Amino acid sequence: MSHSRDLSRGAAAVGSATTDTVHGHQGLLLEEPLLFEIDNPGAIGVDLPDPGDFTPRLGGVARQGEIGLPSVSEPEVVRHFTRLSQKNYAIDMGTYPLGSCTMKHNPRLNEKMVRLPGFANAHPMQPDSTVQGAFELIDGVAHWLKELTGMPAIAMSPAAGAHGELCGVMAIRAALDDREGGPTTRRRILVPDSAHGTNPATAAVCGFSVDAIPSDARGRVDVKAFADKLDDDVAGIMITNPNTCGLFEPDMIEIAELIHDAGGYFYCDGANFNAIVGRVRPGDLGIDCMHINLHKTFSTPHGGGGPGAGPVVLSDALAPFAPVPWVVHGEDGFSLVEHADDAGDAKPFGRLKGFHGQMGMFVRAYAYMLSHGRDGLRQVANDAVLNANYVVSCLSDVMTPAFDGPCMHECLFDDRFLKDTGVSTLDFAKAMLDEGYHPMTMYFPLVVHGAMLIEPTETESKRGLDEFIAVMRALVDRARAGDSDAFVAAPTMTPRRRLDETAAARQPILRWSPEVPTAEAAE
Ligand SMILES: *Cc1c(COP(=O)(O)O)cnc(C)c1O
Repeated sequence: MSHSRDLSRGAAAVGSATTDTVHGHQGLLLEEPLLFEIDNPGAIGVDLPDPGDFTPRLGGVARQGEIGLPSVSEPEVVRHFTRLSQKNYAIDMGTYPLGSCTMKHNPRLNEKMVRLPGFANAHPMQPDSTVQGAFELIDGVAHWLKELTGMPAIAMSPAAGAHGELCGVMAIRAALDDREGGPTTRRRILVPDSAHGTNPATAAVCGFSVDAIPSDARGRVDVKAFADKLDDDVAGIMITNPNTCGLFEPDMIEIAELIHDAGGYFYCDGANFNAIVGRVRPGDLGIDCMHINLHKTFSTPHGGGGPGAGPVVLSDALAPFAPVPWVVHGEDGFSLVEHADDAGDAKPFGRLKGFHGQMGMFVRAYAYMLSHGRDGLRQVANDAVLNANYVVSCLSDVMTPAFDGPCMHECLFDDRFLKDTGVSTLDFAKAMLDEGYHPMTMYFPLVVHGAMLIEPTETESKRGLDEFIAVMRALVDRARAGDSDAFVAAPTMTPRRRLDETAAARQPILRWSPEVPTAEAAE
């Protein structure tokens, strides 16, 4: 079976493409085959001398057959990767209103700092004495994160938000095991029904059962329903604040007291910290741990632009169980505690990652913190919230906000405004593509029907927001005017149209196999 792609443009389309061209190129948007499909045997870009006779030292593992890599010339390689890079929508190209993901501008100053040779060329296995500056920087980021959250301890190594959740819940489990002198009998973690999918997934991966707390009519945690669930088998609660409906959870202190009285711990999902940074210290609300997505709040690139980083701040109760390694500052300068044996009274639950964390992201985040300062970070939160409220107030007469009142850094609509139009949330999002907009987050959180979650972030200008709002209003008008056919057919101007995303996720084709010549195939 050949997995080379069918370049006829109708293949993955709903309806027919508006314009069929000879090659499948449209305008200056070029179709790009796989490197294997443009393979031109012998077209290599380097001229190496014949090695002559030599005895390979690879023993039995020397390659026997052809290497099987495609041969392409240098200009073909350059064009191939340049074309691919242009297919990747990016924050540098336009508005990226993906709710929950915080797609904000990645300041160029951060990029300049991270390319300083002392950071860019450092190797994680260098002797400690040669990377004192790098340790000092990790310590500096740790200090800022502890200050901003009002928490006494931090684990820097987790590589993403979800990895930070794993770190926090493993620390909770280690603390419970320690308290009970053996595997904890507390097996249940409470998670609101509006939570990001990583929260219940993390709890389950750590061996807990997940018990959903309903949201109340205001889109917040129903405190009464939560209190009714408390029992001596509850290990903890995971709450996102501001929550995934873009709303502040006002009952944090009460929830913290209730969970602590019941013997459990309070995990806060800090992915939305950009809405409150510099204004609220989650530590003051009684939490025990919280991950911080440096790639959201602190502007480091993500979504194809780079790896995440998810440091976790910890309360005094959980701090002893933090994973190795961590940076310490002694008489001889900075060093790393790498092993439980060197950890003094601490009881680290283990190690989550090779080395010390995402160094490149620490440098970028530190540049962001220092360039904004304390007042600037507070301004980030103010402007993120202002922009989201501007969007909701300019759209609430034509779209239907899921909850009344102001929002935090993102605004949430349901699909009531599309009732009887024949247009779904998905169709609406696809129509946005033809208008040159990356869609907002759709169908999340699950508690809102046909959800559309829009996060403009503070880096979008008023002009950019006004254009976005104008497009949204025009699309609503068109849907209301009965133009559902155009929505159902959208997008018509993208290189690919409606893909079977479920099949792509469930049965990904990750391997190219050469086309079998017909005669051979017939045998
Ligand atoms: C982004 C996000 C996460 C997961 O973070 P990653 O860095 O993508 O692993 C968890 N919770 C919420 C609310 C998020 O928005």
